[in-house]
Amino acid sequence: MFAVVWASAAAAQTPLQTYADAFIQQSRRTDPKVDYTVTVRSGDRSAYFVELRIANPPNPTRLVIPNWAPGAYRLMDSGQNIRAVTASTAGGDTLPVTRDSEISWTVDTRGATSIVVRYSAGLRDPVQWRRPNNRWFLRATSGMIDGPRTYMYVDGWKLTPAHVTFRLPAGWHIATGLVATTDSTTYWAPSYDVLIDSPVLVGHFLDYHFMAGGRPHRAVVDLGGARAYAARPFVDMLRRISETAIGIFGAAPYKDYTYIFVAGRGGGLEHLNSTTIGVTAEVLSRRPAGAASVSAHEFFHTWNVKRIRPMELGPFDYEHPVRTVNLWVSEGVTDYYTEVILARSRVNGVADFTRRMSNAIGNHRDNAARLVVSPERASWTVWDSPEVNNSYAISYYLQGQLLGFLLDLAIRDSTDNAKSLDDVMRYLFDHYAGERGFTSDDLRAAIRTAAGPDFQDFWRRYVSGTTEIPWDEFLKAAGWSVSFTDQTATDARISSITPAVQGGRWRAVAIPGSAAAAAGLVTGDELVRINGRDILDGTDVTEVVRTIRPGGLVTVHVIRAGQPVTIRFTAGTYRQARAVLTDLPDQADRMRRIRSSLVAGN
Ligand SMILES: [Zn+2]
Repeated sequence: MFAVVWASAAAAQTPLQTYADAFIQQSRRTDPKVDYTVTVRSGDRSAYFVELRIANPPNPTRLVIPNWAPGAYRLMDSGQNIRAVTASTAGGDTLPVTRDSEISWTVDTRGATSIVVRYSAGLRDPVQWRRPNNRWFLRATSGMIDGPRTYMYVDGWKLTPAHVTFRLPAGWHIATGLVATTDSTTYWAPSYDVLIDSPVLVGHFLDYHFMAGGRPHRAVVDLGGARAYAARPFVDMLRRISETAIGIFGAAPYKDYTYIFVAGRGGGLEHLNSTTIGVTAEVLSRRPAGAASVSAHEFFHTWNVKRIRPMELGPFDYEHPVRTVNLWVSEGVTDYYTEVILARSRVNGVADFTRRMSNAIGNHRDNAARLVVSPERASWTVWDSPEVNNSYAISYYLQGQLLGFLLDLAIRDSTDNAKSLDDVMRYLFDHYAGERGFTSDDLRAAIRTAAGPDFQDFWRRYVSGTTEIPWDEFLKAAGWSVSFTDQTATDARISSITPAVQGGRWRAVAIPGSAAAAAGLVTGDELVRINGRDILDGTDVTEVVRTIRPGGLVTVHVIRAGQPVTIRFTAGTYRQARAVLTDLPDQADRMRRIRSSLVAGN
């Protein structure tokens, strides 16, 4: 809210800048004041109906719906969801509204001191958006309100606090990270950024509460009618994950936290003091371990990315996409800590940690793109088709997970286990969780200051560069070595990447040398169906490809340049790289200490 120069590490941790911030409302009587009402009309699941009351509106008032949402790095064309925008004075006189871009509307207030804007945030593709998912849906028994698709902001006034009131069918409940008020249907957000970073689950759901790190945590589960539910192991798992992650940083950076689970699709998305996670009803009701990774990942984001963030990611510009070379830190290092948290919290055993890191190393070795697209390049080109990288694609999640592992091992090795990547994360939180995010230089300086070693060469080779990683040089610090093998695997290989626009079709990655690429699949093709299965997201691709055997016929329907194209090929075989971490024959005491402290946190 203010341009602040952080004077010290302590300052970055203080939520208030001066003593007076605790009791002074930093706004003038004449500033715009914004209140939203979101209504779910009984019997109408086609849209959320929004009313926006603005006192002291600027004239003209420009209203904007975001083009993208933090954490999901793709455009949403959300303007198309917004319909029937009308404006009037508080007294009911109609005011002219002009649409001035795909995502913005201008109201001529004619000098009114208070205006009311009404619109519907429509669930435009009913097939897709009535299906429960972790972002945005509305059905008979529940709905998820996605801030960036629902709330327009007053251009120039994103830092204005807002109230939001929910008018819901009788018996519906509310779960959100927003600040509760004395009115159980009204919540408060200190700014627009916080408002849209606080998704809201409405309807019927299960509701659990637990404490972690001395703070209240809530877990709500929208099972959508599924019955059996292993509540105790599920909540216990979340509590252990939360305690362990908080323990890494020493304190929770929020007053309360809400885990929102939906039996459906979508994976997870991190928010300031909440997360929304879509996993199958089967996982939620019978196999909670299946939600452990995504829960740990999203929860670790509470620090890494929601607070420790690349400089470019904030303050958010919702009209234009932003780029950073550091998504490998925000997502990939979060994936490394996912494994660390699951091991240290005993949700997973040490053998699980070793197996899962082995798989990650194997997947990396199996992808020729590791020698073409650096982690920084993969981060930077997140908005682009892999065509910009000559159709080579590798995930900055995977690259960053492995870089996190390497950095942790190298820091522990060079400091005789006195320091670790944990010290770097804490340092980053102390210095870059405030007004200003971090740059690559800041990151290297943080490692040097918090842990000692200089990683200049490491960066040049493995972060900015694509040098093959000499695994054993790093792994030996914890008494591991890696053996690479290859095995015959089915070549029906098709990778996929997220849509260019949210809600759009997932795009194909034609892996160089694969049978699909030889048959004419082109990177960037929009996937419609593979062997009869509709492709709604990457999970469908993985699952259908997994069932194909050598010699099997594969039919892929895609859209290319607006035209339907069908690609047919026979699945072949290829040599798939695998990796296994094994124990070095001579385990020095130092190796044992390093490994134990890495996976057990002691
Ligand atoms: Zn993530």
